[in-house]
Amino acid sequence: MTFGCVCNLIVLQRFIFVILNLFQNLIKIILKNFKEKSRVQKKEDNFKLPKEIILAKHAGFCYGVKRAVETAKKLKAENPDKNVFVLGELIHNTQVIHELESLGIKTLTEIPEKGEGICVIRSHGESPQVIEKIKQAGFEPVDLTCPDVKKVQQKAIELAKEGYYVVIVGKSEHPEVIAIKANAELYTDKVVVASSVEKLKPLEAELKSHKKIGVVVQTTQRITTLTPVVEYLTAIAKELHVANTICASTSMRQTEAKELAQNSDLMIVVGSKKSANTTHLAEILKDITKTIHIENDEELENYIDLIKNAEKISITAGASTPQEVIEKVINKIRKGE
Ligand code: SF4
Repeated sequence: MTFGCVCNLIVLQRFIFVILNLFQNLIKIILKNFKEKSRVQKKEDNFKLPKEIILAKHAGFCYGVKRAVETAKKLKAENPDKNVFVLGELIHNTQVIHELESLGIKTLTEIPEKGEGICVIRSHGESPQVIEKIKQAGFEPVDLTCPDVKKVQQKAIELAKEGYYVVIVGKSEHPEVIAIKANAELYTDKVVVASSVEKLKPLEAELKSHKKIGVVVQTTQRITTLTPVVEYLTAIAKELHVANTICASTSMRQTEAKELAQNSDLMIVVGSKKSANTTHLAEILKDITKTIHIENDEELENYIDLIKNAEKISITAGASTPQEVIEKVINKIRKGE
């Protein structure tokens, strides 16, 4: 091979190397562009960012729940060597229950025959019989019943003592209502729980014949549940005393959420589906605008279309929803993930 041929071969090799390099870079650029495009497309496919996101002022922990959670933690911190139990879930939130467990605060599903340490009564309250049973088992009860729930118990007792037929407007299976009823029943057997007028109709003759009827209402009920019951009783009672015991926190939360709903394309209610106040909130808002009830940010994925099409989204949350859970929901919508 001549010297000239060798030179030509080297030049050719270099030329091929440069071409291959160029080709490789071109492929890389095309791939990068493709990935970027599909990332943007994916984002657009998820949530087109709404123009406005508003968080209600009265969203999340109410003072009764906050007090119960903080006091339970304080009890454990001040009594590290003592057992600290809560009878029933302190609040309807798995994340908080896990956090309490990690601090050594355990949930009791029922009262054991024998035990020792502190047993917390949660914000819903308990019947006097249950509190007695806690003591009999050997626990030291610490009563964290919300002061607003205590007021309803006291009012029911007062009405019972004064000879009223006590009507409790609420859900008969709810722990708060069970405790209110048990307190009133210490003084009278004339106590009924009703969530609607239909539940009272079978008792109409008895209610009509009684000299006076007194009404209290579960703290987290809707006013629209109380009103028809009061109207019905007004027509049949000889004397009627109504105590609107829906708590201030519930009223403010519901009023604010209703106002927001009137000017929003979509309301998002965050909180446990086991929580009465959260469920009632979602029910109220559904009558005003499109409303979704989610327990956490992961559930947003089920409502991508609704979120995508909303210009203005307002967010509220139940009394047992921690701030972190609400923030995660807001961040996920803001980021459009
Ligand atoms: S919702 Fe109202 S009654 Fe219930 S714990 Fe909160 S403040 Fe108390």
